Amino acid sequence: VAKRLEKFKTTIFTQMSTLAIKHGAINLGQGFPNFDGPEFVKEAAIQGIKDGKNQYARGYGVPDLNLAVADRFMKDTGLVVDPEKEVTITSGCTEAIAATMLGLINSGDEVILFAPFYDSYEATLSMAGAKIKCVTLRPPDFSVPVDELKSAFSKNTRAILINTPHNPTGKMFTREELDVIASLCIENDVLVFTDEVYDKLAFEMDHISMASLPGMYERTVTLNSLGKTFSLTGWKIGWAIAPPHLTWGVRQAHSFLTFATSTPMQYAAAAALRAPDSYYEELKRDYRKKKAILVEGLKEVGFTVFPSSGTYFVVVAHTPFGLENDVAFCEYLIKEVGVVAIPTSVFYLNPEDGKDLVRFTFCKDEGTLRSAVERMKEKL
Ligand code: GLN
Repeated sequence: VAKRLEKFKTTIFTQMSTLAIKHGAINLGQGFPNFDGPEFVKEAAIQGIKDGKNQYARGYGVPDLNLAVADRFMKDTGLVVDPEKEVTITSGCTEAIAATMLGLINSGDEVILFAPFYDSYEATLSMAGAKIKCVTLRPPDFSVPVDELKSAFSKNTRAILINTPHNPTGKMFTREELDVIASLCIENDVLVFTDEVYDKLAFEMDHISMASLPGMYERTVTLNSLGKTFSLTGWKIGWAIAPPHLTWGVRQAHSFLTFATSTPMQYAAAAALRAPDSYYEELKRDYRKKKAILVEGLKEVGFTVFPSSGTYFVVVAHTPFGLENDVAFCEYLIKEVGVVAIPTSVFYLNPEDGKDLVRFTFCKDEGTLRSAVERMKEKL
């Protein structure tokens, strides 16, 4: 394997999902729903295939989806963007992340990341040859340590990556935090890459897009996808929204990574994004119930549960159960209890920082969540 990828193992999500199957454990690890996406979206995909929308799509997206993404962004943020010049459709947000890093970062550029962070950020930054500067968010509230953040900026800083609502913690960046980040970026002429794939799963406060802050659109790449909002994580439809001068870089990388993404699924994605407000309200209502079942259950089991404002994840301290670290705890949980969680040490540059914490997901039907809680109550 190439040196730049040597340190990365099989992703933790793949490892844990494989173990879940092997041990017949309930999988509250990898974040994918165990229920299906909406009928009208599936119908639209079938229709697209039947209508012969089966050859290469236009590289940066089928026009109807570029338009639907721009319309949705306008509803969400009030920003008017040009669907032809400022929206790029990718194979999931994961590709949008890679295209952003590879298309806009030069080797040796510094990029600031908040730990814990989603694993693909570090790997794609490494592929781009970036130098990572890490700022750690700490429990209980994972708020931004402003002084540490300030000292992470240097004259070589090219970009900062934020993720709100945040995987794995469920933290949402507050207006005050975003304001601090924005003014540091303007002062130091730094770009913002913002992963907002959980924006529709915001429970305790309103989601705020960095691009909507004064003076920020011009330096921001907003990344999002269909998967979480429509319970279709296997479709791999994502996008990047950015002003034309940044979109150019993203599109250059995208052209040579995948060129284009699945044509019929793009038509279906356009139909999905035009869902009425009631769809989004119902999604949130369902997830609030699931979240309550898991969070209350985990508290009764005896975990220290940290508040999660958004995403379908919650982070807990496993320390009340006396295992030496997060990986040992997750192994015990799979083998002896029959439940899968994700050890968080993989989300840090220094694994020690995550040794007390594990992540559970609640994107499962209520029965599954209840059974997982029962198993833990009985055997932990
Ligand atoms: N985003 C999903 C999670 O955090 C995992 C996606 C993946 O397996 N790469 O659970």
